[in-house]
Amino acid sequence: MEGVAALKARVRESGGPELLERLEWLDAERALPPVGAPPVRAPERGTRVDFDVVLAGGGLSLLYAPVLAGLGLKVGVFERGRAGVSHREWNISRPELQPLTESGLFTSQEVDSLIIARYAHGVCRWHGGGEYPVVGALDQAVDAGRLLSEVRTRAEARGVRFHEGHTLRGMGEGPDAVRLHFERAGDVQVDVTARLVLDARGVSSPFATADLMCPTVGGVLTGLREGTAPDEVDPRVGDILVTTEGVEEGRQHIWEGFPGRPGEVTVYLFYYAPSREVRGEHALLRLYGRFFERLGRYKRGEPRLLRPTFGYIPGWSRLVPPPRAPGRRVVLVGDAAARHSPLTYCGFGATMRSFLPGARAIAAALQEDRVPGGPLVHDTPLHAVTGGLAMLMASPSREPALRGELNGLLDAAFASLHEMGNGPYAALIKDQMVGTDFVRFLALVARRRPRVYREVLALARHGPLATARWLEGLSRAVFQLRDAA
Ligand SMILES: Cc1cc2nc3c(=O)[nH]c(=O)nc-3n(C[C@H](O)[C@H](O)[C@H](O)COP(=O)(O)OP(=O)(O)OC[C@H]3O[C@@H](n4cnc5c(N)ncnc54)[C@H](O)[C@@H]3O)c2cc1C
Repeated sequence: MEGVAALKARVRESGGPELLERLEWLDAERALPPVGAPPVRAPERGTRVDFDVVLAGGGLSLLYAPVLAGLGLKVGVFERGRAGVSHREWNISRPELQPLTESGLFTSQEVDSLIIARYAHGVCRWHGGGEYPVVGALDQAVDAGRLLSEVRTRAEARGVRFHEGHTLRGMGEGPDAVRLHFERAGDVQVDVTARLVLDARGVSSPFATADLMCPTVGGVLTGLREGTAPDEVDPRVGDILVTTEGVEEGRQHIWEGFPGRPGEVTVYLFYYAPSREVRGEHALLRLYGRFFERLGRYKRGEPRLLRPTFGYIPGWSRLVPPPRAPGRRVVLVGDAAARHSPLTYCGFGATMRSFLPGARAIAAALQEDRVPGGPLVHDTPLHAVTGGLAMLMASPSREPALRGELNGLLDAAFASLHEMGNGPYAALIKDQMVGTDFVRFLALVARRRPRVYREVLALARHGPLATARWLEGLSRAVFQLRDAA
């Protein structure tokens, strides 16, 4: 494995010193052992609260704030950095953006104006296998920065109060409120109380205990050669999932590339791994080192990194218990809850499906002076099955002779999806596949690759409980989805 000093030199040279500094900070945060939250005195019964709802974290989940305020609640957003700014780029299909208009936050024309590129189709392509186009999934690139700044503007107009530079350190829950303890620069301590807390701290939340992790690096590039060959950029086509090699160093690296403004392309390199393996190993630094070294194998040209984007995305396999909030008045949302697809990690799509029904359920509960019951964020039984597959992808064999196996499995899966037709294929990517199609999909993959049964049995490596959970999830998903079909 390449030395850290050499990696740092490459990242500094290709991405600049500021990128290196931010990477080191993020990797160091992840490497730290979990620190016990300081004890916070719980508010007594009858305490007059400062807010109905506090949103801790002002990233993508900021979407909850204006909706809750519009439903008559007093909302405060507390963010350790700046709220309503995005260091990411998102893609999605147009109908999935419908909640932005349904919520009354945006008109349809305003949503259209947030889209910076549209593709004729997307492709998934596996090393040594085929290329599988799909229409109507992840085919619009969204201006993430403008979306979040507009959400902030609407939140402010509805009376949401923003507190930036506030780092949440601990919470204490009483019978009818939570006290939150924040630190500000200069060792200033701030306590506030709320009837309900939305923990939207993403992967940094101490309750973000999901068992999978997807380190992701890349950013907006210019200078890639345009054309229609696989290693060129076609502005009308988005690469959804692409591999250019087999398993190396125990990881299956995957590329994603979607054109944005004219001449610009967002390119990501990522892999899935069990969370416990992504600690203290300079994961993002190593991945960026690889990104700059291998980018030429993915796309030709003379790339220049305009805006780096990187981070850790958690995922939950459904083979272990879910991330859980510490109390009844704390609700996990977004990446902290990790209820998005463990196969696609599309946290943006998942938040689109969650923020409106979630905010309405919170408002209804608080208006009746109760806490919302059950999980608020969108989930689907299908994830109980795809989670096991994601775990398989996260822990491939390190045996050199088997380095092409995962690509083979993925190729069989996507060839089967493609054979089923665009509807089911796009539906799987959008978390909308119906039960009858899912059963057909499994049968097709098994016919194409009979050893898939043996491969799935590899889940037994994760213990009998994990295997039992997966089989239970499979039967539940098949029957629930069949009923829904
Ligand atoms: C590089 C990258 C590319 C991605 N691309 C896509 C994509 O194309 N499509 C897609 O669907 N999804 C994508 N995702 C995933 C998506 O961005 C996340 O799922 C989404 O941002 C999660 O929203 P969130 O509100 O839970 O957390 P975030 O958006 O991560 O926001 C968390 C916020 O909490 C703040 N915070 C953390 N700790 C504290 C604290 N102690 N106190 C106060 N504030 C705190 C942080 O500063 C941050 O602003 C990508 C993620 C990454 C990293």
